[in-house]
Amino acid sequence: MGPGARRLMSGPEIALHGVSAAPGTAAGRAVVLDGRTNPSPTVPAHDRAEEAARARRALEAAAAELEDIAAELRRDDRSEDADIVETGVLMAMDPVLVSRVETLIAELGLQAAEALREAADQTAAELASLEDPTLALRADDVRSVGHRAAACATGALKRAPEGILIAATLGPADVAELAQKATGIALAGGGVTAHAAIVARSLGLPMVVGLGAGALEIEDGEEVVVDGDRGILVRRPDARRVSVALGDAENRRVARETAVARRLVPAQTRDGHRIRVLANASTAAELHEADQQGAEGVGLLRSELLFLEAPAWPGFREQVAVLRPVLSRLAGRVATVRLFDFGGDKTPPFLRGAIARGIDLLLESPAHLKTHLAAIVEAGHGTDLRILVPMVTGSGQLRSVREMLAPVVGGRGAELGAMIETPEAALRASEIASHADFLSIGTNDLTQLVLGFDREQSRTAPVTDIRVLRLIDATIRAAQAARIPVDVCGEAASDPKAMPILVGLGVDELSVAAARVGQVREWVREIDFSAVEKESARLLHQAGHASGERV
Ligand code: PEP
Ligand code: MG
Repeated sequence: MGPGARRLMSGPEIALHGVSAAPGTAAGRAVVLDGRTNPSPTVPAHDRAEEAARARRALEAAAAELEDIAAELRRDDRSEDADIVETGVLMAMDPVLVSRVETLIAELGLQAAEALREAADQTAAELASLEDPTLALRADDVRSVGHRAAACATGALKRAPEGILIAATLGPADVAELAQKATGIALAGGGVTAHAAIVARSLGLPMVVGLGAGALEIEDGEEVVVDGDRGILVRRPDARRVSVALGDAENRRVARETAVARRLVPAQTRDGHRIRVLANASTAAELHEADQQGAEGVGLLRSELLFLEAPAWPGFREQVAVLRPVLSRLAGRVATVRLFDFGGDKTPPFLRGAIARGIDLLLESPAHLKTHLAAIVEAGHGTDLRILVPMVTGSGQLRSVREMLAPVVGGRGAELGAMIETPEAALRASEIASHADFLSIGTNDLTQLVLGFDREQSRTAPVTDIRVLRLIDATIRAAQAARIPVDVCGEAASDPKAMPILVGLGVDELSVAAARVGQVREWVREIDFSAVEKESARLLHQAGHASGERV
């Protein structure tokens, strides 16, 4: 058992713990892509020139495969994914990589496949150590190009894997190509913001990363369950877990088909109450999926996720370069960009050791906050831009941001809103609302902070606990009194039990993961507003609620 493995208390299941990179659960046979191989014999000196030529042909073949994958993605109207895959073509042709392969063959006598893998791994290690976070993220991509070329060199028959892909790391092209039959992905390494994870999210494939070496001990063909909601991979899953996962996969498939077919049907309750359904999306790929499913805009762009590997505060140009490709797709539509919510489990290297989180952390560095605001305004030009302040605890923070925003916003216009995700903010919701243009309720943090639950558990929405519901209700009333819109952007907005209660309490908007937009729009159409309104009022006011009781 690897370091990430922990035996579950009941039954023979073994859970490997990693990080959730794309939601949903899936069960199936493991398709292990990075099985360990024995070192191959050294190539004799007189055969090395021919071996190098074989390696070059393999790189060309890999580039051609990537071009084909990109062309197919374009045919499916997925040009952002295609752009990502095409960067692999350039990597395969990179003269530095080619000469590294040739040197490994000429000097060490490595076989073509081994030299390709080794050269790509060396290049990836160099990229990963670079100061530039965007280049560092390309490390996995170059590694996957090398491994693809190695497969071409050995003439390894490409399997069309049906099941859960298990690998050390995967490039975005691998995901796009393999996803046609794969039902889930589990990686020993990899990151939540790596391109492979982004592609998986946009495809609605459950994915867990950072499982550690234990993931590579899994046997090809072994039955596993990948749980992208909880960030675990389960070996020897029991029958119940498998059946829940299979049901979840089937539900997702059917729901997506329905969502795409009904993307133009308004999200309106049976009795005509409109709810605006927005997407939580931070990348162009997620936005594409959100659009497919009928999202009316973005309710939460978690800007910090795009800079988690940053070695220093990102500058104006760097931020615009990263944000513009996403926001340019939202012309004329609502684009809610949250200020960097650094801190806690989202701390980039340069902020290690920082105690503050969210807006408090930003206000400690006013010059960087001003740059951040200016970059968002620039990148959001042409959208119905809303700037969202994370981890607010009082109206003073909002006033400080508004003062800094005024000179950068010029005549362009941007609304300023507060996340209500701390108990302090909910208790001061009226005061905050009087300084805000909109409120956004973050049920993930709010639930955890109110109930003291672990954040991963709180994603399963004990938002229905009366103590949390009362704070949500107070926030909605405050927004209504101030005549500003209020949304929920935490996971509760896409929880089947919590969502009707939130609508009944009077939220105007729900902002949910891109892959869930269609399902939530469908649920809105199934409910009766006057009925959920009565039910929510009854839940709130029914007497005799013991503290901690769920409704
Ligand atoms: C929340 O806390 O509910 C929220 C949406 O913010 P995040 O999940 O990014 O902390
Ligand atoms: Mg939060």
